[in-house]
Amino acid sequence: MGVVVAVDGPAGSGKSSVSREAAVRLGYAFLDTGAAYRALAWAVLRAGLDPESTHDVEAVLDGFALHSADDPAERWVRVGDVDVTEAIRAPEVSAAVSGVARVPAVRSTLNDGFRARLAAASPGVVVEGRDITTVVAPDADVRVLLTARPEVRAARRARELPDQDHGKVAAAIAERDARDSRVVDFLEAAEGVTTLDSSDLDFDGTVEALVALVRR
Ligand code: C5P
Repeated sequence: MGVVVAVDGPAGSGKSSVSREAAVRLGYAFLDTGAAYRALAWAVLRAGLDPESTHDVEAVLDGFALHSADDPAERWVRVGDVDVTEAIRAPEVSAAVSGVARVPAVRSTLNDGFRARLAAASPGVVVEGRDITTVVAPDADVRVLLTARPEVRAARRARELPDQDHGKVAAAIAERDARDSRVVDFLEAAEGVTTLDSSDLDFDGTVEALVALVRR
């Protein structure tokens, strides 16, 4: 197994884009675990099933074929042979994903897949999510909690979704974090995890701070 860099953080902390760019600069693979939960939520919705029903979610999990790029310079996510790269970012999927992510069978199945990807990565991998530093890869070489103040996160997410009402975006983030944090604790750094607060850093500064933690 190569070097594992585990990054957790709440919605809108910038962890996906920061982790991806850090992987590019380090020459490592990249794994966005949230994309896997989103792809499953997308598949549940597409099947016309209920993301709040454990039975429905488990039915889709059985036979769920997820593929995603290892190379941080690529961005594709596929379910079977359907490209869902853009579709999994839709507000309906964001609203459904916490329901899917609370199902224990979902977490254990996806975690097995993530661990296989980490084991295969060489010379290293940056992996980001909510429970990477604590559950998926507690023995990672570098463990980081990437945070930002709530108003900063809401403003960043609103910039990514310019057509949406700013207040609604902020409320949706707060609600998703509240739900997710009942399942996995990503609001406080676990023991041995370094907190990186990006509130007063720009994108490049945050990437450099993360890369510096890996190279130190
Ligand atoms: O990071 P992102 O916002 O794309 O994650 C989408 C959702 O996937 C989260 O809101 C959470 O419900 C779930 N998730 C999770 N555990 C992870 C990564 C994401 O439960 N490691």
